[in-house]
Amino acid sequence: MNAPKKKLKVATTSLAGCFGCHMSLLDIDERLFTLLEHIEFDRSPLTDIKTVSPDCDIGIIEGGLCNAENVHVLREFRDNCKILIAIGACAINGGLPAQRNHLPLTTILEEVYHTSPGLSNGMIPNDPELPLPLNKVHPIHEVVKIDYFMPGCPPSADAIWKVLTDLLAGKEPELGHGLMHYD
Ligand code: SF4
Repeated sequence: MNAPKKKLKVATTSLAGCFGCHMSLLDIDERLFTLLEHIEFDRSPLTDIKTVSPDCDIGIIEGGLCNAENVHVLREFRDNCKILIAIGACAINGGLPAQRNHLPLTTILEEVYHTSPGLSNGMIPNDPELPLPLNKVHPIHEVVKIDYFMPGCPPSADAIWKVLTDLLAGKEPELGHGLMHYD
């Protein structure tokens, strides 16, 4: 009898994302059952695993970098995953959250927490448990090396399926015209 093939370990995370890219991953619907015959999820919002295993095969990153914790998590993924994939517009170029880059961070924090109408005794949160925001939102390739970029906001389920099944087959992932979009 053939020994069962080792499943690939896949870790996923949402940094400065909206979880929409993860929803698109789940949108592969019943193909998830086929996928789970070949992969197991490691650290992910879909599991309760808190840190990335040191032998992860694929890391999938949704969202750009907007705070210090995002940078820490991204580095943890890069250190432990053989292949790192930037999924969605936010991870690739900062996405819509990067629109805040037009304003000074202090102006934004002042407006949201201090001067907005309806706030009573508003103050900018300063608990040391909270991650410090970065002055600008950054795409993830500015901090670590990324192996593949999957565009779209979000990429379609079919695009995610294609990339994952290509990788499982040991091929270079190719999206092709029909699956490549940026909106
Ligand atoms: S790319 Fe779009 S869907 Fe994905 S995290 Fe960013 S805003 Fe959400």
